[in-house]
Amino acid sequence: MTTNKTNCKGSDQSLGNPYGVEKVAFSPEAFEKIRQTLGTKCPETMGLLFGNAATLTSGIPYVTKMVYRDSDVSTLICCSVDEKRWSPIIEDQWFNYNLDLLGDAHSHPGEDGPYALDACKPSEGDLFTSRNNEMFTSLNHPYLITPIVFSDCGFEFDLFCYLVGPEKDAPAYPVPYCIMTAEEYRQAIAERAAATKPSALQVAARTIAVSAGVCLCTIATLLALDVHPVSPESLSSILEEISQFMYHL
Ligand SMILES: [Zn+2]
Repeated sequence: MTTNKTNCKGSDQSLGNPYGVEKVAFSPEAFEKIRQTLGTKCPETMGLLFGNAATLTSGIPYVTKMVYRDSDVSTLICCSVDEKRWSPIIEDQWFNYNLDLLGDAHSHPGEDGPYALDACKPSEGDLFTSRNNEMFTSLNHPYLITPIVFSDCGFEFDLFCYLVGPEKDAPAYPVPYCIMTAEEYRQAIAERAAATKPSALQVAARTIAVSAGVCLCTIATLLALDVHPVSPESLSSILEEISQFMYHL
């Protein structure tokens, strides 16, 4: 597994993301395909990213495959996605490989290029495309994985990973990424699950707190109905005991 890599603009790192994504994982095959295609072709070349959509909510989405078509070169300003040409490929990945479309990667001119400012980020046009192309919107994913690549064609290969959600006017969120084999990915998810699993004590405390809450609600309802299951004095004492107990949980 390679070390997490961050994006080129340091200020971006403070943004975080609202999707609970710790980092994006690429399979070695997917990453190598990106490097060999977008990483060597001239800028504004694109490819699609596939994997299991369930991993989008796992904290570590996993891109297992990248599909590239040599003929898909877009404008110099932003990458357009040709829905008619890509739809059969998306269907093929789904029906034959059980893989979901997770996003798209495309290359930008490097920092020496005509759009040097924020060259490593998705442009406004890129964001608009991601949020409005039916190919993406029909997926109802919480976000798309949208890496920007610098190619060896005029610049040194590099990749900057972003997440783009459907919320209008939200930024593209920079996110660290790494390369993981399927086994490494399984381990990372297992470790993450173990770290976030509540302890037996926490579970017991929550159960007691919920039970006490139900008790209070029941008593309050009985009081509202003017039904006194116990004397007012005892009730006051019980309520005091329960609130003290909950306070100490
Ligand atoms: Zn772009």
